[in-house]
Amino acid sequence: MDRIGTVYLVGAGPGDPDLVTLRAARLIGKAPLIIHDGLVDPAILAMASLDATLISVAKRRARHTLPQEDICALLVREALDGQDVVRLKGGDPFVFGRGGEEAEACRAAGVPVEIVPGISAANGAAAAAQIPLTHRDHASIVSFVAGQCKGLAEQNWAGLAGHGRTLVIYMGVKTAPQIAEKLMEDGLAPEMPVAVVENASRPEMRVLRSSLAGLPSLVKTRGVKSPALIIIGDVAGADSAALARIALEAHA
Ligand code: SAH
Repeated sequence: MDRIGTVYLVGAGPGDPDLVTLRAARLIGKAPLIIHDGLVDPAILAMASLDATLISVAKRRARHTLPQEDICALLVREALDGQDVVRLKGGDPFVFGRGGEEAEACRAAGVPVEIVPGISAANGAAAAAQIPLTHRDHASIVSFVAGQCKGLAEQNWAGLAGHGRTLVIYMGVKTAPQIAEKLMEDGLAPEMPVAVVENASRPEMRVLRSSLAGLPSLVKTRGVKSPALIIIGDVAGADSAALARIALEAHA
C-alpha cells in the first residue's frame, strides 16, 4: 500500500518565536510542506528548512483566501499523496483555530493526524501584559469567547463576566460596541475594568485600558486593529500586586 503522510496541526503561539514549543520548532524545521495561516509570524516561518514548500491560506476576518473545506481537502490530498504536512496556526489549534474541523476531515479520510498545542493568545496576552487570568482574590473562573461569530446577539454570555470572573474575547475588535452593549444589558457594571491587548508578545504590542462603557471609544480613538484580545474583569484593572494590596487591606 502507498504511504500515507501525517498531518500535524501545530500551534505557533501568539507571535514571539520564543513562545513556540520545542516540538513545534522541530516539526517546522524538518517539514517538507507547511500550510499556514496569515496570523503566523514571519520569524516563525523563517524556521522552515530552505527547501520546504510554504503555502499561505491566510485567514483574516472577512478575507478568506481559501474556504475551510478547501483547506481540509488540501491537507487530505497532500497526506494521501504521501506527504507529511505541518498545518501551522496562530496560538493553539484547538482554541478558535478550526483545528477540530481539520482533524475530523483527516480522520474521515483515514489520514493520521497529530495535534501540537500552542500558547493561545489569551495566555500570551495575559503574560505579556501582566494580567493574571485567575487570581485567588479576584477571579476563579475564566471564559474564552469569540466576539465575531454568527448571531453574536443571541449568544448567551450571561454569568461569564463580572466580579470573580475573567472574560477573554477573541476576534472582538470590530464588534466591540455591540459587545460592550450586550454585557451591560446582561447587568455588567459600566465601570468594570477592560484591557485591550493588541499584538500580544510582538514588538509592537499595545496594552490599553478603559472601563466597559469606554471600550467602544477606546477602540475607535486609539485605532485598535486585529489581532487584539479584550480582557474584561477585575484582573484587568490594575496590576496584580496592586490588586493584592487592596485585597489585603479589605481583609484587615
Ligand atoms: N488559535 C488562536 C486564535 C485564532 S482567532 C489562538 O489560540 O490564539 C484570532 C484571534 O486571536 C484574533 O482576532 C485575536 O483576538 C486573537 N489573537 C491572536 N494572536 C494575537 C496576538 N498576538 N495578540 C492579541 N490577540 C491575538
